[in-house]
Amino acid sequence: MTRRTRFAPSPSGHLHLGHAFSAWSAWQWAQENEAEFILRIEDIDTTRCKRAFEQSIFDDLIWLGLDWPLPVRRQSEHFDDYAGVLDKLRGLGVVYRCFKTRKEILEDIARAPHGLGEVYRGPSEPLSADEEAERVTRGDGFAWRLSLERCREHLGARYEAMRFEELGRGEQRADPAPLGDIILARKDVGTSYHIAVVHDDALQEISHIVRGEDLFELTPLHVLLQTLLGLPVPVYQHHRLLLDETGKRFAKRDKAATLKALREQGLMAEDVRQRF
Ligand code: GLU
Repeated sequence: MTRRTRFAPSPSGHLHLGHAFSAWSAWQWAQENEAEFILRIEDIDTTRCKRAFEQSIFDDLIWLGLDWPLPVRRQSEHFDDYAGVLDKLRGLGVVYRCFKTRKEILEDIARAPHGLGEVYRGPSEPLSADEEAERVTRGDGFAWRLSLERCREHLGARYEAMRFEELGRGEQRADPAPLGDIILARKDVGTSYHIAVVHDDALQEISHIVRGEDLFELTPLHVLLQTLLGLPVPVYQHHRLLLDETGKRFAKRDKAATLKALREQGLMAEDVRQRF
């Protein structure tokens, strides 16, 4: 089987040094492992993502010395695919409509006996079918949440058996419990990063996912979705995060650390790679 990895940025700003390190890590891994490297544009947030930023991502990555096959998949052109995934999950009975406001959710969390920070573990009493239908008819806003309890019921022993391979660290148990019932879509936005990333990684036959360690805690949720949907579980490598001189992660608002700014100052790609 062809080994394939990807870099999947969101064009909601210019790439900074942290992104460059991430792109470079995936690219390097592909070079060292005779794997393909692809680029995917994750632009489901159509208010924050802009075509101008997408162009700047292409320019920055070419400047950095990367290349990738065309065409590049743009998630905003595939909302129907993601709606299909949500339908499948609804068909499995593992998602539910949650009409609660953020304030109500926080109150529920505060009342919960386990008190594990800001984690929502589902309603103590689910809405009846009639109440739900009434609220839908009324046009109330809601989120589709993944019920861990129903996932556990649906998957049985397969739930406890969920694992993924982390390069360099071996097999890891995929336990989504610390995340609680995560939002997978909203009434007006029929998808989320989780649905789109899991769908596209499978569609694009990504065998190895090299991405930042800030996403490590979400991996059990992605493995859960892959298991529910009957998709292969890729091998993961969560790389260290590149930090600035003060020890903080780069953020999109750090204008001075964008590749565009560094390029305009006359730095060469080699100078940037020295900082990795
Ligand atoms: N679009 C995600 C981001 O920019 C990519 C995450 C991933 O690699 O799975 O953070």
